[in-house]
This record gives sequence, structure tokens and C-alpha cells, in this order.
Amino acid sequence: MKSEGRVKDFVSEVYRHRTREVIWITENAWYVRDGDGNPIFIEGTIQDATDRITNLAFVERQANLDTLTGVASRFRFLRCLEEETLPGKTGCTLYSIDFDRFKEVNDLLGHATGDLVLKLLAKRLQSIVNEPSILARLGGDEFAILQPSLNSQSSIEAMAKKIIASLREPLRISGHDLTLGASVGISMFPSQATGAEDLLGNADFALFQAKAAGRNGFRIFDLELRSDIQHRKELEQDLRDAITGEQLELYYQPIVEGGTGVVQGYEALMRWNHPKRGFLPPSQFIPVAEDAGLMTDLGNWAIKRACQQAAILPPHIMIAVNVSPSQFRSASILVKLRRVLEETRLDPKRLILEITETAILTDEALAEKLLREIQALGVGIALDDFGTGFSSLSYLQRFPFNKVKIDRSFVAGIVDQPANLAVIRAVLGIGRDLGIKVVAEGVETKMQVDALLQEGCKLMQGYYYGKPKPYVEIVGDQSVAELSTLIPKAPDTKIRLVR
Ligand code: C2E
Ligand code: CA
Ligand code: CA
Repeated sequence: MKSEGRVKDFVSEVYRHRTREVIWITENAWYVRDGDGNPIFIEGTIQDATDRITNLAFVERQANLDTLTGVASRFRFLRCLEEETLPGKTGCTLYSIDFDRFKEVNDLLGHATGDLVLKLLAKRLQSIVNEPSILARLGGDEFAILQPSLNSQSSIEAMAKKIIASLREPLRISGHDLTLGASVGISMFPSQATGAEDLLGNADFALFQAKAAGRNGFRIFDLELRSDIQHRKELEQDLRDAITGEQLELYYQPIVEGGTGVVQGYEALMRWNHPKRGFLPPSQFIPVAEDAGLMTDLGNWAIKRACQQAAILPPHIMIAVNVSPSQFRSASILVKLRRVLEETRLDPKRLILEITETAILTDEALAEKLLREIQALGVGIALDDFGTGFSSLSYLQRFPFNKVKIDRSFVAGIVDQPANLAVIRAVLGIGRDLGIKVVAEGVETKMQVDALLQEGCKLMQGYYYGKPKPYVEIVGDQSVAELSTLIPKAPDTKIRLVR
């Protein structure tokens, strides 16, 4: 006799004979044959599989639900999303939701409170989501709502507003009134996405846009915006090659004595000669560099190049270089400065770094220390764009600036806006009292020059006196005789005078 060939191997639901309670069994059976191979009977086993099966159901439920909040899990959500974006489906709308200040709550009040906040907010969201739409927690404080229907713009907007309003109501938790708020990004299938992954990506992209625009807002995905970001990504990639590829260049704008027009120095302004896109002004690449963490490299390059080029200009010519907040905060700036001054042999007194108030805002004590250390090298510091941010006159008293540059928005209004004139007058007054030089930026007309002179402003910069221009042109403005006497003093400075 031999046994072979499975007949059955399955799970079924039966009743336990005595108690009538439902249990699960697995049956496993096979033929038992005689010596000629003819089946004579069936032999098998029956096993109680109740534990295994209920565990499986439990696991399945666990996989479908988010354990903390009880809403759908990421796993279930992705499955639904796949289903709703199959070919032939009518369409769906996806809302990607992110709490605006959740990280702060977690950091300040601890994870237990963070969890409680998530639970309460999930409950609020659940109350505005009706079947067959599903609400899911995708992770952290990221939630999503999937509506398996195509909706009008107005109903989508109404839903987004409802989501935001529900999350904006304050929460009272352990004696704290917390108001979090949320941002929402929305994308639709099939009009804006080719499949599940694309739809998720686009909703997230819209969410990113909503967050960038401020809190408690929503954005519906926009294809044009997406290409904007791609453009930015490409620029970021190219920017990495720009420094090494010698694609960057400094232009120089004169800073003059108002009235006489005598050049006191130049401000170095960066330009990018992009191999495909042509000449780009800083507004088109500095924000990209900041986001990509490349600003320090770019800024350090500018300091070095400006010092090299300034070293062979006449010794009375000052050179101003812009330093971004991130570059200023990095501890290496002092080391870099020392090295560059040594290498180029530029008299530190001819160099002035321009910083904006943002550079000093995050850590004022540290900023003050750094300012003093830079000044100890002999290098000057100017407060740039004065008046555009929070800058108050008290900054000028508190921090050791050598110069302050009044933003061009004030200069533009000097003739006909009394409030602008008042600010300029105040800055000039403080400058006189504290021995801080004042430069008026963006001077474009003779009327502005006259008004500034009348207020006692001595230094000016702007298109009226000259636009930023390439180094070779400012070299041309200086006397050749002076240059030739200076060049031997900087033997290791490699400068090409002709482009
Ligand atoms: P900024 O430091 O305030 O530089 C002055 C800007 O105003 C320059 O723009 C200049 O071309 C422009 N400008 C000068 N005079 C006039 C005028 O009369 N009218 C008008 N409408 N504009 C005038 P640019 O070169 O496009 O630079 C923009 C900004 O980019 C600079 O503003 C500075 O914040 C930043 N930047 C430029 N080069 C560097 C750099 O090497 N490092 C860093 N960190 N930032 C830089
Ligand atoms: Ca500047
Ligand atoms: Ca400025």
C-alpha cells in the first residue's frame, strides 16, 4: 500500500460539536492505493486552525488600520489608490494633508502629547470624510483623503477649506491650548496624473507649494508649477559645475562720493554665465544655491575672487563683497578670510563684507562675536538693505557695523515720500553719532542725488553713477600707471585682465 496525491488541503469554518462555537479547521487528505495503484480509501488529518486563522484576520486588520489613530493605514490606502487609478476607472481626487506645527508640539510637549494630538485630529478629519472616501495616515503627521470620484473645482475647494477649518480649531491638551492648522495639496486622476504614483507625487508637490506659501492654505496641483521645479532642479545640478567650470564672474558697481562722482570703491556682484541659459543675475540662482546648500561655496568663491581682483586695483579703492546669512553663520568664514587675505595680500582695510540683518537674527550673541573677530582682522562690515526687514535703528547701536547701506526702496521715495525721507534722515543722524558710514543704494536720478546731498549723505551707489560691469572695464577706468606699479606686489595672484 502506498499513499500519494493530495486530494484536499483547505480551510473551512465548522461548529464545535458541543459548544456550537465557530472554529476553523484545516483538512488534508490523500489516496491510499493498493499494490496495483488502485485507490482503496482516502486518509487524512483534520487540524483545529482557529488560532492561526484568527491571527491572520488580526494581522490583516492590523495591516489595514493605522494602530495609533484607527484610520486607514498607508498599506490600505496605497491598495485603494492602485484600484482607483486602474484604466477604465472614472477618476478620483487626492488630498494630501500635513499639520503645520506638529513638529513643534512633539519637540516641546513630548511624543505622548504628539500622539494624542494625532488621535484627536484624525478623529476630526474622520468626521468630515464620508464613505466611499477614505482617510488614511501615511506616516508621522501626514494624512490623505481619497475621494473615488471626479469633483468640480468648487467642491474640491470647499472640501479643502473644510479640512483646514477642522484642523484649525484649538485643542486643549494638558492645560495647553494648541492651534496647529494644516496645509493641503490636491491632485486629480486622470486629468493630472497617469497613475497612482504620479497622483501621490503631484498631491505632495502641491502640498509643498501650499506649505511654502504659508500656513493654513491649500493648493491644487498645477503642471506649469511642476516644470518650474524641474527647471530649478536642473539649475541646481548645473550650479555644482559652475564654480569648478569657471562659469561664475564678478561684476563691479561703483560706490561714489555723491556730487563729485569720485569712485571710493566697488561692490562685487555675482553673475553666472550659464552654458545654455546665458547670463543669469543672482536673483535666478542665489535662491537655488541657498536651497541646495551651495551658497557657502559660492560665497567663498566670491570673496576669494574679489580679493584677487581688488589686490591689483589702486590701493585707495575699497571692495565690498556680499555674504549670505548661511555663509556668515558657518564657522569656517574666519579661516577662509584669513587664508584669502594671506594668499592675495590684499590690505584687509580695503575689504568690506556686506551682510543683511537675517545673518544676525538667529543667534545675536554669536553674530556679534563673529563680527568682532572679522573686524579684528581689519575687515569692515556693512549692514546691507537697511530698512527692508525688521532692522531697527537699535541694531546700529548694538552691533559693530562700519557701514550701513540704505535700501533702494527708501531712496526711490526720497523726493516724494516724507516717511522715506524721515528714515533716511534718522539713519544718517545715527551714522554721524556713531561714526558709521552711510551709503544710499539704488540712486537713479539727479533729483535723488540732490535730495541726498542736502541730507548730508556722502556715499552713493546706483545706476545714476554706474551699473555693475565686468572687471576688465573697471580696470580700464583706473590708471594703467598705478596698476603696473602694483602688480609685482602680488606675484602669486593669477588674474586675467582680458576676457
Ligand atoms: P544687493 O547686495 O542689494 O546689491 C544691489 C543690487 O541692486 C544689485 O543687483 C544691483 O545691480 C542693483 N542695483 C544697483 N543700483 C541700482 C539702481 O540704481 N536701480 C536698480 N533698480 N537696481 C540697482 P544684482 O546684481 O542683481 O544683485 C542682487 C542681489 O544678489 C544683491 O543685492 C545681493 O543680495 C545678491 N548677491 C549678488 N552677488 C552676491 C554674492 O557674491 N554673494 C551673495 N551672498 N549675494 C550676492
Ligand atoms: Ca550688497
Ligand atoms: Ca543692498
